[in-house]
Amino acid sequence: MNLVVVSNRVSRGKPNEPMTGGLAAALLPIVEKSGAIWVGSSGRVRDGNQKEPFAEVEALGAGALAMLDLPAAHYGGYYEGFANSALWPALHSRADLIRASQEDYLSYREVNAFMARALLRFRKTDSAFWVQDYHFLALGAELRDLGVTEPIGFFLHTPWPARSVISGVPHHRELIEAMLAYDLIGFQTEEDCENFVSYAQSDLGLVVHDGVIISRYGRTRAAVFPIGIDPKQFAQLAMKASTHPDVSRLRRSLNGEKLAIGVDRLDYSKGLINRIKAFDRMWTLHPQLSRTVSLLQIATPSRGAIEAYGNLQSEVARLVTDVNGQHGEVDWTPIRYLNKGYGQAVLAGLYRTAQVGVVTPLQDGMNLVAKEYVAAQNPVDPGVLVLSKFAGAANELDTALLVNPHDIDSMARTIAIALSMPLTERRMRWEAMMAKLRGHTIQQWFADFTDALHDCQLDKSELA
Ligand code: UDP
Repeated sequence: MNLVVVSNRVSRGKPNEPMTGGLAAALLPIVEKSGAIWVGSSGRVRDGNQKEPFAEVEALGAGALAMLDLPAAHYGGYYEGFANSALWPALHSRADLIRASQEDYLSYREVNAFMARALLRFRKTDSAFWVQDYHFLALGAELRDLGVTEPIGFFLHTPWPARSVISGVPHHRELIEAMLAYDLIGFQTEEDCENFVSYAQSDLGLVVHDGVIISRYGRTRAAVFPIGIDPKQFAQLAMKASTHPDVSRLRRSLNGEKLAIGVDRLDYSKGLINRIKAFDRMWTLHPQLSRTVSLLQIATPSRGAIEAYGNLQSEVARLVTDVNGQHGEVDWTPIRYLNKGYGQAVLAGLYRTAQVGVVTPLQDGMNLVAKEYVAAQNPVDPGVLVLSKFAGAANELDTALLVNPHDIDSMARTIAIALSMPLTERRMRWEAMMAKLRGHTIQQWFADFTDALHDCQLDKSELA
């Protein structure tokens, strides 16, 4: 099988570069070994009508990376517009934040069609396509319109919400019908998969049998493939990072004080406001914890051109200032708030330095930071993960301290419990989580999905 992986952005993902997401870091070695080609945007746009889409192709071991310049006229409407102002809020159950114009939708469809044309160049005999994420819901249908009959899989990294929420997206029906051009659709959790299947049954009136949806395109299998990380590699990164200047400076600055850490893109789905309010509450309820624990919150800027993100940035900054003003001392700052991105080689060391990891999204497909925090811990003295029950990761990491991010008081109490948890309990919980991480690695995720896609190929040839 000649695999073509497609995602919005292709990243070379050097571990020392700031802000290399988990997917990039994890996919690159797989592309390198498996011989797959990974196609996506170069991050640049190009004016005019590109008859033959421009792609910079770079060999990577047995595989390759292909970086495309997307059409300038449609990029904003596609990316900041429909993908991140209509789909992203809906997928995270924030229908109140959906903003999209008809032009945005048309640009989204244009970029999906553009990507389909660009992919033809990488099609070979025995090809299979694997499309990543909500930027390309309609890419499979565009490929079918161009005559592609090979297997096409799709994996959604975000949640899939209830029918009533997704119905708030303009053109939802057309888009979801287009998704049925995929042979295989992968979700992070059972709940996401069930929500999708329920829409197909109830709103589209389609027959579903054993997780297979029958539509005018034929059969689409909907299934669950929770994404993992490479825990061994992350643990090594964390060990190495202890000598990194940022990490040693952090350690020195603590003077024996405990540290909690949060690492998130500055996104309203991540529950930053509720988390900071929980720390505020904790320092109020337990004044003895002032000066003995601080929070390091890395909030990496993201999608700043979108109004909801700009508003969030101001709101978080204001709240941090208030809390620091309220609880701080001349020589103590309760929240160290950083608005920048870090490479994973540093992040891993920061996670290991913190006694508590706080991951409290209101909704999250998986949340790789939760898994990375666990993998980065020192096995003889591991930290405690405080995790929202609304993160996909909570299904596997069920020995974390699970919290409801809407219940500020209870979150405050849980963080205080995490800070004083005895070593034996910390180790027990951590070992159980590590066993889950080792059982569901990113390599396994890749293999499971591509095996299932391969099975679709076999089914297709039997039916032909
Ligand atoms: N990340 C990073 N640098 C940062 C912040 C985050 O490299 O400054 C990485 C982090 O290590 C993780 C990914 O970005 O692998 C974030 O994935 P997650 O699933 O937690 O959230 P997303 O941002 O995809 O919603």
